[in-house]
Amino acid sequence: MDDLNGKRVVVTGASRGIGRHLALDFASRGAQVCVNYQTSKADADAVVEEIAEAGGEAFAAAADVGQRSEVHAMFAEVAARWKGIDILVNNAGINRDSAFDDMTDADWDDVLSTNLKGPFLCSQAAVRLMRGEGSGGRIVNISAVTSLAGREGACNYSASKAGLNALTRCLAVELGPDIAVNAIALGFFESPLVHEVFSREQIAAVENSLPIGRMGRFEEVAGLVRYLCSDAAAFLTGEVISLDGGQFIRMS
Ligand code: NDP
Repeated sequence: MDDLNGKRVVVTGASRGIGRHLALDFASRGAQVCVNYQTSKADADAVVEEIAEAGGEAFAAAADVGQRSEVHAMFAEVAARWKGIDILVNNAGINRDSAFDDMTDADWDDVLSTNLKGPFLCSQAAVRLMRGEGSGGRIVNISAVTSLAGREGACNYSASKAGLNALTRCLAVELGPDIAVNAIALGFFESPLVHEVFSREQIAAVENSLPIGRMGRFEEVAGLVRYLCSDAAAFLTGEVISLDGGQFIRMS
C-alpha cells in the first residue's frame, strides 16, 4: 500500500515487540515515525537508527503514556517537528497477572494506566493535532482476545483491554467523519511479553488448541494495521477485529 508514504505516525511502546515491528514497517513504506518508549531508551534509539540506516525518518520520544504531562511533552515535540499527525497506534501495553485475591492496587492501577488511560491521553493529544490541521486521521488500538473472554489471573489486563474496546467505539462515534478509530484484538503473538507471562508448556498447549495451529507473526499485525490506515478502509470505524488464529471462535 503506497498511501503511507509521507504519513506522520506515532507508535506507542515501539522500543520492542509488536510496536517496534510496526514502527519499522511504517518507516519502510515512507512514513515518518515517532518511536515512543517509557524506559528502554537504548532499544528505542536502536529502532530509530535501523530506520535511518534504511533511509527512513524517525525519532524516539520518551513518555509514560499514562501520564498527561509526559504525553503532552511528546505530542508537543511531534507538533514542533511535523506540525500535525496522520496516524496514532496505541500499542503500549503491560501485564501484571496475579490471582484475583492477591491482586494489589499497584497491579490494577499500573495496567489500567498504561493500557487504558494511555490510549485516552494519547488519542486526545493526537486528535487535537489532527483537527488543528483540518485534516483527518486514523487511530488503531492494540487490544487483546482477553478483552472478549476471561483469563485466569488477568482481571486487570482483561478489564483494561475491554475498556480499550469501549473507548474505540465511543471515539469512532465522536470523532467521525474525519477520524476513524478501530481496534485489533490480538491472540497469541511471538514476543518477549508472551515469554515473560507464559511457560513453554502453556504456549504449546495454546498453539495446539488454535484452528491455525501456531502463534501469530508480527508481520500479520502490521498487515492489518496497514489496512486500517489505508484508503481501502475508509468506511471502517468502531470495529474490534480479532486477529487470533481462530482463538476466540474456538473459545466461544
Ligand atoms: P512488549 O512487552 O514486547 O513491549 C511493550 C512496549 O510497551 C515496550 O516498548 C515498552 O517500552 C512499552 N511500554 C510499556 N509501558 C509503557 C508506558 N507506560 N508508556 C509507554 N510505553 C510503555 O509488548 P508486546 O509487543 O508483546 O505487546 C504490544 C501490545 O500488544 C500490548 O498492548 C499488548 O497488550 C498487546 N498484545 C500482545 C500480545 C502478544 O501475544 N504479544 C497478545 C495480545 C495483546 P519500555 O520497554 O521502554 O517500557
